[in-house]
Amino acid sequence: MLAFIGLGSNLDNPRSQINKALSALDQAQKVALIQASSFYRSKPLLDMPGPDYLNIVCKIDTSLEVLELLDLCQHIENKQHRVRGVHWGSRTIDLDILLYGDEIHKTQRLTVPHPEMINRSFVLLPLAEIDPTLELPTFGALRTCLEQLELSDIEKI
Ligand code: ATP
Ligand code: CA
Ligand code: CA
Repeated sequence: MLAFIGLGSNLDNPRSQINKALSALDQAQKVALIQASSFYRSKPLLDMPGPDYLNIVCKIDTSLEVLELLDLCQHIENKQHRVRGVHWGSRTIDLDILLYGDEIHKTQRLTVPHPEMINRSFVLLPLAEIDPTLELPTFGALRTCLEQLELSDIEKI
């Protein structure tokens, strides 16, 4: 199954946090990293306090079931999470399952496609860098979703 994961960090050297999580994904059983986007820098959501975020999106090939993939993402988060006290909302690493093939999942633990992805330039821009012609389950053409978004507050680095 092809899946897309969104990774974000704004604490404790975000770039190395993201690289560490990427290699943890690649080294996990039943997961192969296919591609990773550039890094994108943006302010915290909703004017929350804290340092700027770095975000990327990666594409993986996996034979994990979707909930096993969530377990893996949370395991990687736990291994890298909150070494010191953090500001509200800030985190060393966040891994969100954006897409799992073209499947739709809605359970208490998991909603896929990620429900907020279409509102977030730091998700859609790196996603479009990997696959500009992607069709999103529920949301339609990625290109059309991107046209609805404010892109002035995000910087590709
Ligand atoms: P957001 O989901 O709006 O980006 P967040 O990433 O800060 O917020 P977390 O605290 O990391 O939220 O996760 C809260 C819960 O979201 C997780 O425990 C997980 O069960 C659930 N969840 C639901 N859908 C997803 C998904 N597609 N990917 C990752 N977690 C998900
Ligand atoms: Ca998130
Ligand atoms: Ca999350």
